[in-house]
Amino acid sequence: MKTVATALLFVALAPAVTGCAARQRFLDRINAAKAPPPAAAIPGLPATGAKAGQVYAGALPPPDGVDGVGPAAPAPPAMQFLYGSGEAAALSYQAFFGLANYIISMASDRAVGHDLRSVVMSPGSTLDAPIFEPCGDKPLAVVLDIDETAVLNLGFEADAASGVPYDQARWDAWERTGGGDVTAVPGALDMVKAAKAENVAVVFNSNRSTVNADKTAAMLAGLGFAPVVHGDTLWLQGDAASTGSGKDARRWAIAKKYCVIAMAGDQLGDFTDLFNASAQAFEARRASVGGRYTSVLWGHGWFILPNPVYGSALKGAMGEVFPLDKRWTPPAAGSPATTAPAPEIKEK
Ligand SMILES: [Mg+2]
Repeated sequence: MKTVATALLFVALAPAVTGCAARQRFLDRINAAKAPPPAAAIPGLPATGAKAGQVYAGALPPPDGVDGVGPAAPAPPAMQFLYGSGEAAALSYQAFFGLANYIISMASDRAVGHDLRSVVMSPGSTLDAPIFEPCGDKPLAVVLDIDETAVLNLGFEADAASGVPYDQARWDAWERTGGGDVTAVPGALDMVKAAKAENVAVVFNSNRSTVNADKTAAMLAGLGFAPVVHGDTLWLQGDAASTGSGKDARRWAIAKKYCVIAMAGDQLGDFTDLFNASAQAFEARRASVGGRYTSVLWGHGWFILPNPVYGSALKGAMGEVFPLDKRWTPPAAGSPATTAPAPEIKEK
């Protein structure tokens, strides 16, 4: 009976399936005719109207039908890495388990009476002369960025992958309505569990809007990051009189109440706004993370997550990224470099 029913269903659907295939072939031809020539490969999105630093790496997949990017189309390479790869998941676990160990270590130090210092650079700091305030007896906390640090914005980025340029209104709508289409960054909730066990608060510092604070808090709670209380464990753009995308004003407000023993983020601005000083030249910005005081903080108070999809890391001309004195061209075929025999290995 089941076989008969299945056969009847197949017969009923066959014309529709055939019709779909014909329609798809038609649409493919239309799309192929519309597609730009290969030489005009899309260099990355978006060219205008971007959120600060919001640049998409890699060419977009070709259109494959009326629904935009279909399930079989390849995702942009940077998105393949961040949202799909085991390598990115392993990096995230590495960061969060390192952070969890650090939390346990700092909580132990506090328990035996050691004085702790905040890892927030205080007002008046420079990258070469940072000021880290003593914590006194303030309660311990870790400070996390939200987007692509605690949360992977799968729904928004899948939409972006279809070629829709970034704009603030679209992001605002995402904050209000996308709370179900996210997932926690691998390892983040394990770290939160460790923090709770050590009585260390988890505080979020994000450039999401204060207008949508309740939606963002609900999204985080839905993933398992509760408690999330705006003004205590959730700080958003505009809070503490912060302006633009800078996060220092909020970090300083958080550090007034809490002893910030660690911070985690996917952008250098998640640690100090000093990294993003506009006067800082391209090479100097990269070098500044390896300074005498900054270099020792990575993995020891500051924990960074991978993000090759968007943000302040995605810039640099060929001449900036690849120094001119480190250029190589393959040797010509037949030259000694390509024909020399492998060196003989002699036994001693
Ligand atoms: Mg982020």
